[in-house]
Amino acid sequence: MIEMKKLPRVSQRFIRYIKINTQANPLAQESPSSPGQMQLAELLVRELEAMGAAEVELTPHGVVLATIPGASQTIGLLAHLDTSPQAPGGPVNPMVHEYRGGEIVLPYGRIANPILEKAVGCQVITSDGSTLLGADNKAGIAAIMEAAERLLAEPAENHATVRIAFTPDEELGRGTDHLDLNSFGVKAAYTVDGGSLGELEWENFYAQNLKVAIEGRSIHPGSAYGRMVNAVRLAGVFCASLPATALPETTRERAGFIHVDAVRGDVERTELDVIIRDFTREGLAEKRKLVENLLAGIVTAPGSFHLQEAGGYLNMKAAVAAQPKALELARQAMERVGVEPVEKPIRGGTDGAKLAEAGIPCPNLFTGGGDFHSRAEWLVAQWHELAVEVLVELTRLWKDS
Ligand SMILES: [Zn+2]
Repeated sequence: MIEMKKLPRVSQRFIRYIKINTQANPLAQESPSSPGQMQLAELLVRELEAMGAAEVELTPHGVVLATIPGASQTIGLLAHLDTSPQAPGGPVNPMVHEYRGGEIVLPYGRIANPILEKAVGCQVITSDGSTLLGADNKAGIAAIMEAAERLLAEPAENHATVRIAFTPDEELGRGTDHLDLNSFGVKAAYTVDGGSLGELEWENFYAQNLKVAIEGRSIHPGSAYGRMVNAVRLAGVFCASLPATALPETTRERAGFIHVDAVRGDVERTELDVIIRDFTREGLAEKRKLVENLLAGIVTAPGSFHLQEAGGYLNMKAAVAAQPKALELARQAMERVGVEPVEKPIRGGTDGAKLAEAGIPCPNLFTGGGDFHSRAEWLVAQWHELAVEVLVELTRLWKDS
């Protein structure tokens, strides 16, 4: 089925990487959360060494680091090893389609995305529909590896110095937990974790994750009159009271949301995972206040609910605005290879949001894929090749800047 000869080398590389199942395991505490991530990390280390990269390192927590020596400026390129736990992770059976437009029919599903109409005449890589493809984010890893091989084959003075980091468990929000930003040593970086052709993202949600616990009072239902406090029912009332206009399924573009991600419990105690997202700090604070007010109105006995912050991230916009060169050079690199930048805010976060907290601007670049976290995930091979060319141009622009 796979016509390997016709695929760009970067996409052949990609197909090698997706054979390793690196699905993140949210229940595991260790890093990486799944053995496949370490397996892929080891493969990348071997390949980086073979192509002559410097300072190649695999940390005990599964972070791959390497340097492509160059002139002057040092920039970082990042991608993540894991795949989403939200759909089956493997084994991936990749298929290559000569795309003629319309739906792509797979053995176990179908793909319909209007963006693909721009890929008519290209090769589209998919799974057989029973698993993720793994383009998120192995398309990014493959693009960085391919760019590394090309840069290492030419004189170092042609380009800036590049620091590479492949991180585990980004999908669990732990991507940069074990990345030492001091030793990474960059002033600007890029994640290669974006979607279709030209995507350039430099703004993302402010995010706050909340753990809510509602305490009830259990008693035999037959003698519960006036005495039972059912935490399950109160949790249900809370969910139903969230404004219908501020949910993930009813918002898009620049509107934020409140989302109940999970509910676990019984009459005595019910826990809810609630996530709040907004593009402004004020919007985030308002939504947090709303959650508190709703809970206070529904769970009336004093002390009968607890609310705890459980992580989140900041909008990277401020760090990018403070050092606009990172964004300007990304735009120029795309224009140099004939790709029109498509700039839009990310309705989520990337590892770049964490780097931005440390003052390192870290825009997100396209990989050429789409419909991530689903069994309908795809990668356009010719867009993937352009992603590599953008990375190579970017290192030249940084050298001259
Ligand atoms: Zn990703």
